[in-house]
Amino acid sequence: MNVYDSDRMLDLVNKKYFLVSSPDKADAILLNTCHIREKAAEKVYSEIGKYAYLKDNNKKLKIIVAGCVAQAEGKAMLQRQPVIDAIVGPQMYQILPDILLDKLNNKKIFLDFDEEKKFKKLGYDRKKALISSFITIQEGCDKFCSFCVVPFTRGSEFSRNLDDIVQEAISLTDKGCKEIILLGQNVNAYHGTTKRNSQASLAQLILELEKIKKLDRVSYTTSHPKDMTQDLIELHGNSKKLNPYLHLPVQSGSDLILKNMNRRYTTKEYLDIIEKIRKKVPNIALSSDFIVGFPGETIKDFKDTLKLVKEVKFAQSYSFKYSKRIGTKAYNINCNLSEEEKDDRLQELQSLLNDQKKCFNKSFLEKEVEVFLKGKGKKENQYRGTTKWMQTAIFECNKNKVGEKVKLRINKAFENCLMGELL
Ligand code: SAM
Ligand code: SF4
Repeated sequence: MNVYDSDRMLDLVNKKYFLVSSPDKADAILLNTCHIREKAAEKVYSEIGKYAYLKDNNKKLKIIVAGCVAQAEGKAMLQRQPVIDAIVGPQMYQILPDILLDKLNNKKIFLDFDEEKKFKKLGYDRKKALISSFITIQEGCDKFCSFCVVPFTRGSEFSRNLDDIVQEAISLTDKGCKEIILLGQNVNAYHGTTKRNSQASLAQLILELEKIKKLDRVSYTTSHPKDMTQDLIELHGNSKKLNPYLHLPVQSGSDLILKNMNRRYTTKEYLDIIEKIRKKVPNIALSSDFIVGFPGETIKDFKDTLKLVKEVKFAQSYSFKYSKRIGTKAYNINCNLSEEEKDDRLQELQSLLNDQKKCFNKSFLEKEVEVFLKGKGKKENQYRGTTKWMQTAIFECNKNKVGEKVKLRINKAFENCLMGELL
């Protein structure tokens, strides 16, 4: 979502500002920040320290901190780093042009939660499109999982209205976009209003987007198991444009840990959803987030997570060590595990998940797949793109085809990518 937000920030200031290749050439440095884990938040301060000295040579230079760390730290951040010119929360970045033009009477902190106003100001006209582009359709969260800062940093659940999203998709596809990835902290909780003032679900929104002729693929992320409604599951079976990919974080395979995390589902309920979706789309790529070392996680709880992973067989995954976040309910629960124990568990889980990723990717060997080309690879003449299962695919070619769709025959498969030859 920060990638989407950064693109929109650039859209807002593009009449007066453009991207430069290094910080020393900039008149404004904007740090868009993530607060989800402690490590990401701490990195922000060391980054600001790196840029502060540039003000000695450029008196015009403005350093602006946006995103969830800005929201969470507010005034404290300004006290710790007085070199910052403005602190802007994720629901206030429509104010950026005014900050850059010094129109705000030296006010430096902007932390209101006014999503409606923000999206109104942003509008739906996109200045630039990639073959695969993001659209934020939902923000914030009312679920209050005991480990998570999102409800405090992004605010309560908000859905954009359906027609604005469709217009934004048309603006992107008119500029060459062929795949849209719909974003939300709980994207499947989407319930936007329509022109007729009724409420639309995520499945209804996807059906509207499918009508755009130039659009080939639609995907959505991140979903919560509690909001995995029957109409959405059905749509996976019927849709011609929805990617065979579902990111559905389970976090843990232990019912007790899920309860203490306030996740509001059991492992059985999660597995039932997986069974239903696999009946509709047998070769779907399933993906999840995991947290290891949540306070109170015993060796039995951890083994239950491994058991669930073995049962589901994931094609993709993101796994993290639990990170204590101030303001959350779990902050006050003492953690019984040492860092070393958490590291060992994370390593064991990731090793299993990596084997599963490799196994999923190997099932594509010798197959022909369509790939949307997103950029250059690491080597000369190498290009990279994604399949509709959201795998990265790499191949060699003498012509730059970035932004196009190509067909590859897959001849190598690794845990993080496929390699193939251009057909
Ligand atoms: N809404 C999605 C859900 O409920 O599954 C997840 C969105 S959250 C912004 C992204 C991921 O960050 C979570 O799925 C979780 O695995 C991870 N995460 C959030 N808080 C964390 C914490 N305190 N420590 C470690 N990982 C965390
Ligand atoms: Fe955070 Fe997701 Fe839980 Fe909301 S549902 S509090 S975003 S982990």
